[in-house]
Amino acid sequence: MVAEAQFVVRIPEAIYQEMVSHIVAGYPNEACGALGSINHEVVKNYPTANAAEEPDDFSIISEADIVRIYNAIDDYDGDMIYYHSHPKSEAYPSARDIDWAKRSGYLYLIFSHRHYPEPPYARIFAISPEGGVTEGAIERFS
Ligand SMILES: [Zn+2]
Repeated sequence: MVAEAQFVVRIPEAIYQEMVSHIVAGYPNEACGALGSINHEVVKNYPTANAAEEPDDFSIISEADIVRIYNAIDDYDGDMIYYHSHPKSEAYPSARDIDWAKRSGYLYLIFSHRHYPEPPYARIFAISPEGGVTEGAIERFS
């Protein structure tokens, strides 16, 4: 369904593992946070609480956290990448994710615990204002 990767996001292994720890700690709920990136290279991890009313079903970063992270990333002219986990389903944007993503314009990194207790795996997507989903590639480096 998804064609070849259209973009690449590079993530330092240490930050990737930090994200995985945060995501695993949130299980069986969805966990979420944001990454700051410069030219598609991740430079900082901002794990947050999940502010959704039903955190086993959806994840939302609170307005206060978003503003704080947005300002922090703005300080180094970076871009925000939103990340969250799917406890049961594939690491692919849900209809609700697409609805939110197309308004925000952020890249979406999604983890899946589908093979729990194996570690969650991640995929990354760009979602257009029309709701079109394009998959990118994640390149981990140390
Ligand atoms: Zn989702």
